[in-house]
Amino acid sequence: MEKTEIKKVCKFCHIEKPLSQFEMERRNRDGYTGRCKLCRCKMRSQNGEYEREKFRKHEYKSNTPSHYTDEVIQRMMSATHCVYCGGEGNRISGDANELVMDHIYYAGGYAGKNIDDNIVACHRSCNTSKGRLHVYDYYQTSEKFTDELWHEFVKQFARRLLKYDPSEQEIETWKQGFADEAADLRVVSPAD
Ligand SMILES: [Zn+2]
Ligand SMILES: [Zn+2]
Repeated sequence: MEKTEIKKVCKFCHIEKPLSQFEMERRNRDGYTGRCKLCRCKMRSQNGEYEREKFRKHEYKSNTPSHYTDEVIQRMMSATHCVYCGGEGNRISGDANELVMDHIYYAGGYAGKNIDDNIVACHRSCNTSKGRLHVYDYYQTSEKFTDELWHEFVKQFARRLLKYDPSEQEIETWKQGFADEAADLRVVSPAD
């Protein structure tokens, strides 16, 4: 006869599951939490706790303490595509198409602004290939970063700062602004 595994009913999904599907909780009489791991996972991803935890780790690792608002957390959670190559992405840690936060102006740089407007979702690989390049220079050198994607990138960036939908003319002005800024920086700090 098979050894009977001790089971417990989850308080949230009301499904009876083996104890291994619950986390240990010393304060509880039976030593396990009342919410199964699956329910815990679901709730965390719904309320943004998972994203917040990732951001906290990121801040810790990059040593640039900051505060992310719900807006940027939502932006990251709802991202389905990479802003730089337009390819599909997911939230699976370690996956080739995993989307990560990119600091448009790299953290620690001359404008290492760890602020909301500076954060977009992109593939880990695109984040790596962008490196410390100014975003305009990255657009100029990356084949995947098409004119259409650049237009959309600038539009969204302007929209975040202006707090309204920019006109086509405004977008063109912002594009020129990025180009000028990149050119200025090449004078100040020419490539190594
Ligand atoms: Zn459950
Ligand atoms: Zn990409």
